[in-house]
Formats: sequence, C-alpha cells, structure tokens
Amino acid sequence: MMKLKKLVGFVAQIPSMRMNFSSVACEGIHKEKADCVVIGAGVVGIAVARELCLNYNRNVLVIESASTFGTGSSSRNSEVIHGGIYYPPNSLKARFCVRGRRLLYEYCKEHGIPHKQIGKLIVACGNEEIPKLNYLLNRGNENGVEGLRMMEGCDAMELEPELQCLKALWSPTSGIIDSHSLMLSLMGEAETHGTTFSYNSTVIGAHVDENQINLHISDTKSVKNLDSISEWCPDITLVPKLVVNAAGLSAIPLAKCFNGINYGVIPQCYYARGCYFSLSNITVPPFQHLIYPIPEDGGLGVHVTLDLDGNVKFGPDVEWLGDIDDSSSMQNKFDYTVCVDRANKFYPEIRKYYPSLNDASLQPAYAGIRPKLSGPGDGFFDFIIQGEESHGIPGLVNLFGIESPGLTSCMAIAEYVAAKLLRF
Ligand SMILES: Cc1cc2nc3c(=O)[nH]c(=O)nc-3n(C[C@H](O)[C@H](O)[C@H](O)COP(=O)(O)OP(=O)(O)OC[C@H]3O[C@@H](n4cnc5c(N)ncnc54)[C@H](O)[C@@H]3O)c2cc1C
Repeated sequence: MMKLKKLVGFVAQIPSMRMNFSSVACEGIHKEKADCVVIGAGVVGIAVARELCLNYNRNVLVIESASTFGTGSSSRNSEVIHGGIYYPPNSLKARFCVRGRRLLYEYCKEHGIPHKQIGKLIVACGNEEIPKLNYLLNRGNENGVEGLRMMEGCDAMELEPELQCLKALWSPTSGIIDSHSLMLSLMGEAETHGTTFSYNSTVIGAHVDENQINLHISDTKSVKNLDSISEWCPDITLVPKLVVNAAGLSAIPLAKCFNGINYGVIPQCYYARGCYFSLSNITVPPFQHLIYPIPEDGGLGVHVTLDLDGNVKFGPDVEWLGDIDDSSSMQNKFDYTVCVDRANKFYPEIRKYYPSLNDASLQPAYAGIRPKLSGPGDGFFDFIIQGEESHGIPGLVNLFGIESPGLTSCMAIAEYVAAKLLRF
C-alpha cells in the first residue's frame, strides 16, 4: 500500500506517462507500456530521441536521473567539432566523427546554433614528433577528412605568432560549438514531435518477461543514499518496445543490472578525469585557432580551446580514476573537483608550444570524466553499440564508451542507432 502511494505520486509527476502509455498492474509494482525509451538526456540520448520521433514517427520518453538535461559529459567537454583524424580507418569513431561533423555543421547553419569553423593546428615541437604528425596526416586522409595540409613551423608560427613548433598539421574543418544551444535545439525539435523528458527518474535495472524488456525505474531521490544496488526498489516498471541505453558514464554499470543480458559481452569500464584551466588576465586571446599537441595515452593532449566568446582554456589532462564502484556510478557520484596543484603539470606541457605562458596565469576551470573501454596503456578502443544480436535482449541498444568524439558524432550515432533498432 505504501509503495502504491509513492508510485502514484511518481507517475503523477510524468504527465506523458499518464497520457501516452497504457497501464497494466504487475506484482504490486505499477507497470506501463511504452513505445521507445531513451535512458539519459545527454547530447547523444537527446539526438537519438530526436531522430526516433522526427524521422521514424515514434513515441519517445527520455528518462534522466538528474534534474535537467546535459549535466554529464555533454557539458564537461572541449566543445570542439573534430575533423576525424585520430581514429583507425573504418572504426565507428572515424565514421561517426566524419559523418557527424558534416551533419552538425549543416544543423548548426540551419538552426542558428552558435559555432565557428576556426580550424586546428596539431603541432610537433620536437624532431621525434614529426613522424607522428605524418602518421596523423595519412590517417586523416584515409578517414576522408577534407583539406588536411602539412605546414612548416615557420608558416604555422606566422599564422599564430605565439606558437612555437617545428611542423604543424592544419585541419580546416575543425571548429567550436555551443553545446548547450545544440542540446536545447535538438530537445526543442524532439518535444515538438511528441518526445517527453522525465527528470529526476533513474533507471535502476531491467528484466525480460515474455520476450520483452521491463525497465525498473525509481525516483532519483529514493536511490540517492542507498549503498548497495541490491537495496534499490523500483517505483514503476515500463515495458517499452525499444530501449536505448545512453547513460554515458553509467551505461555499463546499468547494463549489468539488466537481468537476462548476456553478461559476457558487457565490457569493463574505466574512468579518466580530464581537468581544464582557463587563461586569466588576458585582453586579447593569444591564439585564433585550436592548438593541439601530439595525442597522449588516454586523451588528445593538453590543448588550447577557445570558446565562442574568445575565452581561452587548456586541457583536458588524463587522470585515471580507480575507485568508482558501480553503485556510485549509477548514483552519479563523480568527483569533478579541479585540484589547483594540477596546474603545475600544465605549465611545462603548454610551454612546449606556447613558451610565453606567464606564471600564475592558469585558473582552475572545470573537469569532465571519460567513460573509457580501455585502461592505461591499452591503446585505442572503439565505441561499442550493441543490439540484441550480441547481448540477447530484444529491442535494446547499449551505447558503451561514448567518449570523444561523441559530441561531434551525436547526430551520426543517432542515425545509426535508429536504423539499427528499426531495420525490421
Ligand atoms: C573531458 C572531455 C572532453 C571532451 N571533448 C570533446 C570534444 O571536444 N568534442 C567531442 O566531439 N567530444 C568530446 N567529448 C566527448 C563528449 O562530451 C561525449 O562523448 C558526449 O557528451 C557523450 O554524451 P552522452 O549523451 O553519451 O553522455 P552524457 O552527457 O554523460 O549523458 C548521459 C546522461 O545519462 C544520465 N544517466 C546516467 N545513468 C542514468 C540512469 N540510470 N537513469 C537515467 N539517466 C541516467 C546522466 O545523468 C547523463 O545526463 C569530451 C568528453 C570529455 C569527458
């Protein structure tokens, strides 16, 4: 009886559930049917929801554990539209980045999303880095990245007088975007086409019944302070035809709570924090273009990014986090603190290509956390997009390891996921 009371209150918060989904009672927990459910309102979940309702006319409900959209990696990144240079040819990252970038620029132009195609220089500062730059040029060309050109250091330094380098790879298609405006626009379109966003609602697990996935959903408040996932109790069960697990950092821990899934195909997850420092006390930004060093293990190197207001920031570095258990991940208990002392590591890294960086000019800005599928020193790992054929649950697509270039790729991922779900 207590449970039912709580449940009725929960459903009452979600008008769409009352309007669009028919109810059936089930073992004391309220059960509702649904068409498509997207778990997570980050840029990828939002893009998938938009694609499903706009281009496939599906009725979509987005379930988000936070109190609003885009509070995860989608608002804690470099806001760079990547060209598609770094990734092995034919990998999902390479394909989605190139396709996603083209779709994104088109979308930004059509919908007035603030963005600038400012171009990027990847720089070699020591002789030993020059072969790596040549390697990136060949890789980018293989991936179909347009306009790549190797430059002598003197030409790059003429373009960017504060820069010091021996050679540079010029990528004219790279740019910057206001990711918040992008999410707002995609959401607006999704809502206009019938998608409902339900906040403060956490998907805590699932089971399969009569060949259909049953999603267990709880009010976020009621799972907030429980230590063990086994103590979590759903307020409602949804029975959707299609489910997209776009839960970002929590996608893998969540998939492990899907009873009936083939656990053997769920990859191990690793987390790598990346901190940013902003450049203080400047009247004119020292750079006009994005400046990237040669990539490092786990990230693209501490680079220069500019936002659309001309503010300059450096980052992200790579700090592997070893202490996040599944329950903390599912409760979004991530530590985004930027430790002031990390600046000591930034100065020498940045001065390799920007020698006149002043002492005490870096201020802690913000941090993001990458959901990685490979650990320190393990090398490249692709995005994983899993359908029934690999995990065994009908109508479910899992998105794992959607780190960079996930923002650039969001519309291409959405296209792919929708086609994968609806190919029959
Ligand atoms: C430091 C850093 C820099 C980056 N820079 C770039 C860049 O310059 N360019 C680029 O293209 N990409 C970049 N990326 C990658 C990009 O930010 C991500 O790939 C993208 O934002 C992922 O979006 P998402 O929707 O998958 O995940 P998220 O934005 O993390 O969204 C997942 C959502 O799911 C919700 N959620 C989690 N668990 C549950 C649950 N159980 N129930 C309901 N909701 C749940 C979360 O609250 C969250 O809102 C960067 C990433 C990082 C970390």
